[in-house]
Amino acid sequence: MTARPAQIVDGSQPREKRGTLDASIPAAATGVVIVDLAQVRDNWRALAKRVAPAGCAAVVKADAYGLGAARVIPALYQAGCRNFFVATFGEAKAALGYAPGATVYVLDGLLPGSVAEMAELGARPVMTSLDEARAWAALAKADAPAPAAALHVDTGLNRLGMSEARLDALIADEALLERLDIALVMSHLACADDAQHPMNREQLETFQRLRAKLPKARASLAASDGLMLGKPYHFDLVRPGYAVYGGQATAQRICPVLPVVRVAARILQVEDVPVGARIGYSATYRATTQRRIATIAAGYADGVFRHASAGDGETGGFVAIRGALAPIVGRVSMDLITVDVTDIGDPAPQRGDMVDLVGPDLPLEAVGKGARSIGYEVLTRLGTRFHRHYIDRDH
Ligand SMILES: *Cc1c(COP(=O)(O)O)cnc(C)c1O
Repeated sequence: MTARPAQIVDGSQPREKRGTLDASIPAAATGVVIVDLAQVRDNWRALAKRVAPAGCAAVVKADAYGLGAARVIPALYQAGCRNFFVATFGEAKAALGYAPGATVYVLDGLLPGSVAEMAELGARPVMTSLDEARAWAALAKADAPAPAAALHVDTGLNRLGMSEARLDALIADEALLERLDIALVMSHLACADDAQHPMNREQLETFQRLRAKLPKARASLAASDGLMLGKPYHFDLVRPGYAVYGGQATAQRICPVLPVVRVAARILQVEDVPVGARIGYSATYRATTQRRIATIAAGYADGVFRHASAGDGETGGFVAIRGALAPIVGRVSMDLITVDVTDIGDPAPQRGDMVDLVGPDLPLEAVGKGARSIGYEVLTRLGTRFHRHYIDRDH
């Protein structure tokens, strides 16, 4: 029997524009991750427009949130993005390969002993300590400061960033300060996904006070959620990641972006199981009526959360089949999930069909919720085993 053509609906488009897309998915591919690069560009442009005259960077750490830095970074560069944030040196190296000449900030800063490597690469460390500042300042020449770098100041997240006391110590050390070119001073918000949270204003005020101590540096505070809090939070540069990838970081204020990713996997088997049948490892699920179970070629190795299974009185995750949701039942295993498709008919799901793990009927946020996690983790956990397909339009 020949496989049915892999026709799937293009979920990256708004509902009314959605057509079927022959994504040229190989017949033997168990699953596919489809990334709409045109929408990535549109999202970034919409964010840039929203925050203008502030600048808009893009956060592309963790392989562009799992979507593939090698494709996403050039697309963003094409859209006009020139400032990128990554977490690690290795990511910075990759990013500069994909966007030569761009400004790349390394959020993890300068690891001890890594000054020469960082300087040679031409990335900007986001420094969080006096040690880093001193190590970087050693690159200064008699007539020129060290290459441009950024400084992360803490305003209440207490995760990464220099305390006010250490910032004051840095500023008091004039010899040190003049050997540095601090191009950007930044901080990060703890609760910006909740617009009403009092910490937003507290951190804003703290940041205004701290950044004023380095008046020549540009300033950056907001990520995807923070930029929706309004102008006062934008400063000179905003740093969205999740929103660029179509995520809605806060339920309260809808960000002007659309989904860019769709994840679908193949049905391997459809079987009716009788009353009393147990499904999956450890027999956590027991059918109380006759059920029809579809086994899907996606497991935790592909990014399906092991917690995304219904059971123990909790609802779990779903897959979407032509607009209907089918619950994941029984344990999620490494390569497989079992879903209850009893109520899905016309035509009944069959072997070889694709079901959505993330798509128009299952946004990232819903998938995150079904796994007792968040859309961010859904993205960054996508496995490498599925076929990757990038779609684009002429631009
Ligand atoms: C990851 C990260 C961002 C981007 O956050 P999003 O919520 O994805 O927009 C911005 N700034 C810092 C410091 C980060 O760690």
